[in-house]
Amino acid sequence: MLDPQKMTRAALIAELETWRSRTAPLDLAEQRAAASLKELRDIKAALDAHSIVAITDAAGTITHVNDKFCEISRYSRDELLGQNHRLINSGFHPPAFFAGLWATIGRGQVWRGELKNRAKDGSFYWVDTTIYPILNETGKPVQYVAIRTDITTRKADETRLARYAEEVAEKNRELETVVYVASHDLRSPLVNVQGFSNELARACAQLKARLAQTPGNLVEKRELLALLSEDVPEALEFIQAGVAKMDKLLAGFLRFSRLGRAALHVESLDMNALLHEIHQTLNFQIQQTGATLRIDPLPPCLGDATQINQVFSNLVDNALKYRDPQRPGQIHVQGHVTAGRTIFSVADNGIGIAPEYHSRVFEIFHRLDPSATPGEGLGLTIAQRILERQGGKIWLESKLGEGSTFFVSLPAA
Ligand code: ADP
Repeated sequence: MLDPQKMTRAALIAELETWRSRTAPLDLAEQRAAASLKELRDIKAALDAHSIVAITDAAGTITHVNDKFCEISRYSRDELLGQNHRLINSGFHPPAFFAGLWATIGRGQVWRGELKNRAKDGSFYWVDTTIYPILNETGKPVQYVAIRTDITTRKADETRLARYAEEVAEKNRELETVVYVASHDLRSPLVNVQGFSNELARACAQLKARLAQTPGNLVEKRELLALLSEDVPEALEFIQAGVAKMDKLLAGFLRFSRLGRAALHVESLDMNALLHEIHQTLNFQIQQTGATLRIDPLPPCLGDATQINQVFSNLVDNALKYRDPQRPGQIHVQGHVTAGRTIFSVADNGIGIAPEYHSRVFEIFHRLDPSATPGEGLGLTIAQRILERQGGKIWLESKLGEGSTFFVSLPAA
């Protein structure tokens, strides 16, 4: 305890001043400074709770790490301070990668990227990283603040997904080869069956003519003639119809499997010109059926001109084929860009498709009413395959008796 009796006057005044400054209420500037300090502390606490944080000096020597950094790298704070990030280098990224990183932050710019690091126990971890350079008055970096998020699980998922996608693609290629070889090779014996059944039909006709001219037992002759003019030709007709059907299916398979082999030439497509061309090609059918085709201004997209033309030709052709005889056909093509994708729609006021068939119409050879209109049931299957190969998608919305809208999404140009 201070004894005022024993103090000099000056010391007493100084002591009183200190006491007053400690007890006097804070003025406004001081209150603001204290509030800002608290806010900064809270932000730092929030950052530490969420992210892996490290600060280095201009040379890259680590001067600060938070708990999360120690936790993920499995190094203690003492082992990290004074070191540089080479300590956790996994060797995964080439030197040019780090040269680029240093060039960016050395220029005073923020660097963002994904880094694979190695922890003290030799395990690897991935971090999504932002490095923020703190600059002096002349604009030179004096410190770097690195804020990271652990993305190890996401990276593992991505790798697994990429492996699955590659396996599926490989299986698809195998399947396409099988389909190609099978459909190609099955067609030659089929040509033989077709040829020889024609041959048999001719032989039958000749036998019938000869039998009619030869004298003999009338009853026996009549029976033989009945066989040759009814039973055998009928059997041959069934064989030929079966052969024709099988030939059509094999031709379809062949067309489908060839798609996977066709070289793609992906470029920016002028969709206005492409749809105009389709309009010209189908103009006769459009006029014949009394339909109208309205094409709004369309945005460009990325794709292979020939194959994308095939997709839209099929959609417009279907809109004409599956029109409702009760009303004039109206077809409307539109397009817009959203989130890097170009979405086109081909809408009609035709017969529509019941909900249970919305996905089935894309199945190979699936037709809802085979006897009503000619077709192979292959157009939409091929459209879907074409779009899959070009990073696109196709889907539909439809109401039975009202019409259908087919949507196509492709990468924007
Ligand atoms: P195809 O037209 O040769 O039968 P698609 O694969 O193009 O083959 O179409 C499959 C089936 O989907 C068609 O048989 C038809 O039943 C149905 N379909 C396709 N487009 C439309 C449409 N715009 N309106 C109604 N039904 C449609």
